[in-house]
Amino acid sequence: MRRSLRHALATLAACLLVFVAVVHAAPENAGNPSSPEAILARADTIKATDFATFGHLIDDLARFEAKLAPAERWKLRFLQGWRATWVGDYDAGRKALEDVADNANDNVLRLRATATLINLLGIGHRYQDAFMRLNQLQELMPSIRDRKARFQGLGEASQLLSSAGQFEQAEAYAREMMENPPPGETICKGAQHLLRARREANRLETLDPMYLRAIETCDAAGDDVFADSMRSDIAAFHLAHERPAEAVKILIDTRDGARALNYPALLAEYDATLAQAYLKLGDLANARRFGLSAVAGSIRDEFTDPRRVGYGVLYQVEQQLGNAAAALAYHEKFMAADKAYLDDVGARSLAFQIVDQQLLARKAEVDALNKQNEILRLTGALDRKEVETGRLYIFVLLAGLAAIAWLVLWLRRSQLRFMKLARRDGLTGICNREHFVEQAERVLAYGARSDRGACLILFDLDHFKNVNDTYGHAVGDEVLKRAVDVCRRALHACDVFGRLGGEEFAVLLPDCSPAQARARAEQLRLSIAATSATQIRPNMVVTASFGIAGTMQCGFELHRLLVVADAALYRAKRAGRNCVFMGDTGDIPDSPYLSEARG
Ligand code: GH3
Ligand code: MG
Ligand code: MG
Repeated sequence: MRRSLRHALATLAACLLVFVAVVHAAPENAGNPSSPEAILARADTIKATDFATFGHLIDDLARFEAKLAPAERWKLRFLQGWRATWVGDYDAGRKALEDVADNANDNVLRLRATATLINLLGIGHRYQDAFMRLNQLQELMPSIRDRKARFQGLGEASQLLSSAGQFEQAEAYAREMMENPPPGETICKGAQHLLRARREANRLETLDPMYLRAIETCDAAGDDVFADSMRSDIAAFHLAHERPAEAVKILIDTRDGARALNYPALLAEYDATLAQAYLKLGDLANARRFGLSAVAGSIRDEFTDPRRVGYGVLYQVEQQLGNAAAALAYHEKFMAADKAYLDDVGARSLAFQIVDQQLLARKAEVDALNKQNEILRLTGALDRKEVETGRLYIFVLLAGLAAIAWLVLWLRRSQLRFMKLARRDGLTGICNREHFVEQAERVLAYGARSDRGACLILFDLDHFKNVNDTYGHAVGDEVLKRAVDVCRRALHACDVFGRLGGEEFAVLLPDCSPAQARARAEQLRLSIAATSATQIRPNMVVTASFGIAGTMQCGFELHRLLVVADAALYRAKRAGRNCVFMGDTGDIPDSPYLSEARG
């Protein structure tokens, strides 16, 4: 088994040698030739042509591996994997290449390792692993700008897909290779993959002259394996179209060259087709010769098409020659090889389907995870939105509350202002009649409770009508304000001062005896007489007459106090004005001022 594997890998290596090694020529400017980078580049270039030197170079580098940069270490690992594969150490080669394919920091190197692995796994019949790697290669491909690496990747992908019956995709990759070969490459390899895929798909109706031109290109470029592979396919095409002589001609003309390539798998193909062609032509000797050669040249224990075909031809030859025993023996071998070959073809196809399903399932899983993540993200966003909405709500609420508070305050202040206005006399600013009554009653009630006497002074400007008539209403207003001002200055904070109407005023003096009230009234009378006259018009005389009532005589009822004080005022007027009269309970309430005082 190990030997057959070595044989298989030698075949692989021969193919890779032509394909990979030539594709990856050394960078033209590798810098210092003794630098690890330059040594690695050189090793990469000569690995297929000078295997011994290649081995020495990478062994030397491996000695100071620890000193290599990560990129150089990965390149070395790739070359070590390649070498292990070359010498048939399949497991070591696979391990190294898998390591590079999965972990290298350079995608180009990963792609090269993956492509080599695909070839390796395909030959080792590990088709599921090969298709998994093909998926990895297809995922890597879009990120690869290195045209040589892409070219190698496309070649491996095309071959593997062809072998699993995925001809359309195989053809697409082959065409891409033909359309855009990297520098140093031609349409040769792409055309070979395309021809192989089309022939195996039984879709080769006519022979496009392009293939013949491609063979010439391969020959010119020294791509002999690819040129002869195409010849083998073209011969098979002629044979399938009942032109065995043409098939024989193509193959016989180039068979020596093909044998010199030391590529047993290709030679076995040649011989299998030749055997079939000779059988068709009735040349049983040559049919037997090439049948035997096809069987012998096929890799031992491998279930190849040439082996199957070879046994089939040998069986028919022996049968036609009447060698029943030999015919039977070959028939048995043919049946076994045919079954094994078909099983292998089926295994490849099945592996492709299995991997396809696995990848679909994985993708569905990833999609589901992504969806789950998206839902989580949206839920998070929704939560954040809710918090934001909550904040906004609180902000609006607070703003609303602030607005309401401000409104309430504003209303309250306006209300107070209006209340104040409602309580004040517009011209003089002291209590209006209603407010005076209210305040005075409150003070009297308190006086009554605390048994503290109070007095009420009522005064009226004298001949005020004359002031208006002589100086005008505006001056009259001014006189009223002045009179109030001087009185205010003479009054105490606890005194209640109000305008009862027109030019008539009242002052309630809490905690005050009649004598004190009289003195206070005198003070007011003198102030009015002094100030108003001198300050407004030099010749104008403004005086007032005063009447006083005390709670000692009248009790604490405002109305009674007003009546009595009014009567006293009336008497003061009659007495010539500008004087103060004390009230008397005997005063008859028929004073004209009383009606005003009663309101
Ligand atoms: P007497 O000494 O008897 O009180 O004479 P008098 O002219 O003051 O009395 P009378 O009641 O006849 O006249 C009061 C005048 O006061 C009548 C009115 O034109 C004037 N008056 C009342 N209120 C105002 C006011 O707000 N401004 C002005 N300029 N005059 C007013
Ligand atoms: Mg008057
Ligand atoms: Mg009056």
